[in-house]
Amino acid sequence: MHINEAKKEADYIFNLACPASPCHYQAQPVETTKTAILGAINTLEIAKNNKGVRILQASTSEIYGDPREHPQKEDYWGYVNPTGIRACYDEGKRCAETLFFDYYREYGVDIRVARIYNTYGPRMRADDGRVVSNFICAALKNEPITVYGDGLQTRSFCYVDDMVEGLLSLMNADIQAQPINLGNPDERTILELAQMIVELTNSSSVIEHHGLPSDDPVKRQPDITRAKKLLDWKPTISLEEGLMKTIQYFDGIMLDTSQKK
Ligand code: UDP
Repeated sequence: MHINEAKKEADYIFNLACPASPCHYQAQPVETTKTAILGAINTLEIAKNNKGVRILQASTSEIYGDPREHPQKEDYWGYVNPTGIRACYDEGKRCAETLFFDYYREYGVDIRVARIYNTYGPRMRADDGRVVSNFICAALKNEPITVYGDGLQTRSFCYVDDMVEGLLSLMNADIQAQPINLGNPDERTILELAQMIVELTNSSSVIEHHGLPSDDPVKRQPDITRAKKLLDWKPTISLEEGLMKTIQYFDGIMLDTSQKK
């Protein structure tokens, strides 16, 4: 069936598809850009051809690149290297946002755009490659924790349940088309995160410093004033609580794997 013939079988479309871990999207950069842009066009076409369907785009804090404004508000346009190794994801997602707003202006499609900050939690893959799962898996195995660069770069980590609540609130809200930051404003250095995970797991892991990948953003923290005001949403799960739940999950799957051996 051609995409234009897809008939309405739903009221809502969540366009969440795209690898989001730097090591995975950088392994297939052309496919990543295609997923972001062709995926946006295909899902927007379905929404356009089926009146009454509302469509939500999982956008990203990567829209802001290596931000010169801190914390980031939605009206900040970002600072992205268009030819670097992160561009396939950043520019793909930026272009997808453009498509969403143009389908809204040109065809009246009912859009929602969430700019998702770093999110973690149970059921991440052990080989996901992002920082929380890498650090927890290393700590549970008492292996070295790999901090890239000096570890003074910052991120703000949101627990998955809070993010799901935020996405559902945004989808259900009756608001004008506009991007909305979703994330936890609790900003931490990567070194702090490593130390926290070592403590929470009672691990004997040591911290090892590795090279910093190019274009790695120096800091990142959402301003969530808009989400609080329009969606009455804010994260409720602390980093410590969320990490404990995630540690329990990875501990469980590692136990399973070792019992099967
Ligand atoms: N990072 C790290 N060690 C790892 C994985 C990531 O020090 O094993 C750092 C990475 O350089 C970045 C931050 O942790 O500064 C968050 O990386 P992640 O890949 O989770 O997501 P990003 O926010 O960079 O897309």
